[in-house]
Amino acid sequence: MNIQNYINGDYQLPISNEYVDNYNPSNGEVYGKIPNSNTEDIEYAYNSAKSAFRSWSKTTLEERSRILIKISELLEANLERFAKAESIDNGKPLSLATSIDIPRAASNFRFFGNAITQFASESHESVGLNAVNFTLRQPLGVVGCISPWNLPLYLFTWKIAPAIAAGNCVIAKPSEVTPMTAYLLGKICTEAGLPKGVLNIVHGLGTTTGQAIVEHPNIKAISFTGGTSTGANIARVAAPMFKKLSLELGGKNPNIIFSDCDYDKMLETTVRSSFANQGQICLCGSRIFVEASIYEKFKKDFVQKVKQLKVGHPLDASTNIGALVSKPHLEKVESYIKIAEDEGGKILCGGLEVTVEGFENGYYLQPTVIEVQNNSCRINQEEVFGPVVTIMPFTTDKEVLRLANDVKYGLSATLWTNNLNRTMQFSQKLQTGIVWVNIWMLRDLRTPFGGAKESGVGREGGFEALRFFTEPKNICIKY
Ligand code: NAD
Repeated sequence: MNIQNYINGDYQLPISNEYVDNYNPSNGEVYGKIPNSNTEDIEYAYNSAKSAFRSWSKTTLEERSRILIKISELLEANLERFAKAESIDNGKPLSLATSIDIPRAASNFRFFGNAITQFASESHESVGLNAVNFTLRQPLGVVGCISPWNLPLYLFTWKIAPAIAAGNCVIAKPSEVTPMTAYLLGKICTEAGLPKGVLNIVHGLGTTTGQAIVEHPNIKAISFTGGTSTGANIARVAAPMFKKLSLELGGKNPNIIFSDCDYDKMLETTVRSSFANQGQICLCGSRIFVEASIYEKFKKDFVQKVKQLKVGHPLDASTNIGALVSKPHLEKVESYIKIAEDEGGKILCGGLEVTVEGFENGYYLQPTVIEVQNNSCRINQEEVFGPVVTIMPFTTDKEVLRLANDVKYGLSATLWTNNLNRTMQFSQKLQTGIVWVNIWMLRDLRTPFGGAKESGVGREGGFEALRFFTEPKNICIKY
C-alpha cells in the first residue's frame, strides 16, 4: 500500500515526487512506498499550518478538548485495524499492539483533551507595590514533532496531542521505518472534525524530511524522540535559530535486583523489562545487576524463563517475541552480540537468528542473555535497542550505585528491594529521569517523563508538555 502525506486536511502526493520502500519485517518484503518529502513539501505543510493557526489558537478549550476526545474515541473504535497495521509495519506482536500501543495512542488524545481544560497559569500580587503580575501562556505557533519507530503511534501522538491541545498547529513526521499508523491517523482526525491544517503529517527520511522540518526558520519548536546522535544533530541545527527543543533520547537502563525483593514478581517483570517489544523500548532494563547472594539462582531461573519465550510471526497469537524492525537493525543488534563475545561476555542463551516457517526472510532473533564481568565493556555502555540483556553480580549498595550511574545515559532505572532506606537512597542518587521501584513501566501520564545526561533535555507528560508547547508571558499591571 502506498501512503501519502496528510496536509491541509487531505491526503496529498509529495511535491518531491520521490518515494522510499516500506518493508514488512515479518517477511522482509517491500509492501508499499512512502513519500520522501522535501523542503517544498514542508513549506506547503507550513503554510497550511500557519493559516490554520489563526483560528485554532482562538478556539475555545472546550472545543479543542471535544475534538481531541473524539479522536481518542475513533482510535478506540478502530483498535483492531490500527493494531494490525502497527504489527505488520513494525514486527511487534499483534497482542502488544492491541493491548498497549493503540490504547495508549487513544489515551494520549483523551489525556491531553482533559488536561488542557485544567491547565492554568500563576498570578503574583506584588504586595506593597500596588501591582499584580500574571502569566499568559500562549501557543507557540507552528511546531515540529519527530518520532521513532519503536512505539510508532504511541510516541507520535504523545507529542501531537499536547501540541494541538495547547493551540499550536503541527508538522509531524513519523519514522520512515514505521509510517503506516501515522498515515491512517489523518483520516481519523478529519472525521473527528479537526480543522484543516491543524495537524499536517509528512513522511520521509530523517536526513531529508526531518532535516527540512528542523531547518525551517519559522517552525518555533521541535519535539523529538529518537537516538542520541540524531538529537545532538538536531540541537546543532536548531540552537542558532533559538528554537525550543525537547529531546527524548537513548537509554542504557540499569535493573538492580536485591535479595530482599519479592522474587517471583521481580523475575516475571524482569523478563518483560528485558524483552518486551523485542527489547526495542527506550526504557528496557538492558543492564541487570543482581546481588551476589541470589545471583546463581537468578541466573538459572531467568535463563530458563527466557528460553520459554516464543519467537514467532507477529500476527500469531502465541508469539511473545516478534520480528526486529528492519534488516539493518537486526544486523546492528547481531554485531553487538559479537562485540560482547569478543570482549569476554558469555552467552547464557540466545544469540542466533530464528527461522520462522513460511517467513524465512523475516528479521527474527532469539532473546539473548549475556553474562559480563564488568560494566565498562561496550555491550554495557552502548545502546543496543534489541532483545539483548547483560547480567552481572554485585555485593554492596555503594558498588551497584556506582555501576548503575557509570554510563553516559540517564533515562530510567528499576530497583527491586523492600528496604525503605535503600529505596530512598537510590531514588536520590540514581542519575536518571525515572526510577521504578518494584515495578517497571507503570506510566501515569501526569508525571514528568524524560531523561538525564545524554538521554535527553526537557520533560514530556502532563502539564510539563503543555508548558513546553506554550510561551509564558509575564504581564505586570500597576494600579
Ligand atoms: P532515530 O534517531 O534514527 O530517528 C528518530 C526520528 O528522527 C525518525 O523519524 C527519523 O526519520 C528522524 N531523523 C533522523 N535523522 C534526522 C535528522 N537529521 N533531522 C531530523 N530528523 C531526523 O531513532 P530511531 O532509530 O527511529 O529510534 C530508536 C532510538 O530512539 C533509540 O535510541 C531509543 O532509545 C530512542 N527512543 C527514546 C525514547 C525516549 O522517550 N527517550 C523513546 C523511544 C525511543
